[in-house]
Amino acid sequence: MILKGKRAVVTGSTSGIGQGIITKLASEGCDVVVHGFGDGKEIQSFCQSLSAEFGIKSHYLNTDIGTAKGCEDLIHTSAQLLNGLDILVNNAGIQYTSPVETFPPEKWDAIIAVNLSAVFHTTRVALPFMRKGDFGRIINIASAHGHVASEQKAAYVAAKHAVVGLTKVTALETAQENITCNAICPGWVLTPLVQQQIDARAKNQNISIEEASAQLLFEKQPSMAFVTPQQLGALAVFLCQDEASQITGSSQLIDGGWTAR
Ligand code: NAD
Repeated sequence: MILKGKRAVVTGSTSGIGQGIITKLASEGCDVVVHGFGDGKEIQSFCQSLSAEFGIKSHYLNTDIGTAKGCEDLIHTSAQLLNGLDILVNNAGIQYTSPVETFPPEKWDAIIAVNLSAVFHTTRVALPFMRKGDFGRIINIASAHGHVASEQKAAYVAAKHAVVGLTKVTALETAQENITCNAICPGWVLTPLVQQQIDARAKNQNISIEEASAQLLFEKQPSMAFVTPQQLGALAVFLCQDEASQITGSSQLIDGGWTAR
């Protein structure tokens, strides 16, 4: 248990990538705040299973982080429940696809709020807790779309590029403290967020889910395999260790070769 006693909050950890990351952090001994939307009973039982399996403390918060106030509440309550805060993983995210000229302004605002502004708000509130404990690890889940673009994803691509920039600024401002800030940039990961895109493609082209999924990989991900939440969790755990103290301001691409071409 290489992170025993560390205190972590992972936004959007009730599903997909966040759930994979929080499970890995708990398995290495972190006390955790699971956060996000979903079926309250199922999530409580997920928390209980983490505590039972790994002997850690776990809590659940369903705060909406689409506003500055929501982000402030989430971090303050997490730090209160955990009695401090060492690790912040900004993972919650949403998607919407449309050409620029028909992109609904309210969808733009919602994506920028959750995928970008929330990263700023949680970070600014979390930093004083990290400074108090003389240790901090901030991990921002950006995307291959933090480095390259795709059609129809104006708000998402803009937000993810900006998260990579915000990661660098946070890293510079904490460079001489025991605090690091890095981005993890995954390629396709088979989560509900991507399943929706596969389902839409299958419906629009009248093809099977399997064909739609293979098409999606073929277009972008040379490995022709999905990245897994477990692989992302393992990378996050590595970034939280002392061995990674000189990795800061970086973007860790884990994308099956997507951005190599
Ligand atoms: P997901 O839809 O499975 O999970 C999203 C999580 O965010 C859920 O827990 C949800 O409840 C939470 N959330 C969304 N809006 C929220 C809000 N307003 N307040 C509080 N919680 C909110 O998605 P995922 O695929 O696991 O994506 C997680 C992150 O990884 C996102 O930032 C996404 O952009 C990024 N990402 C995903 C992929 C992929 O292929 N799945 C690739 C690259 C990057």
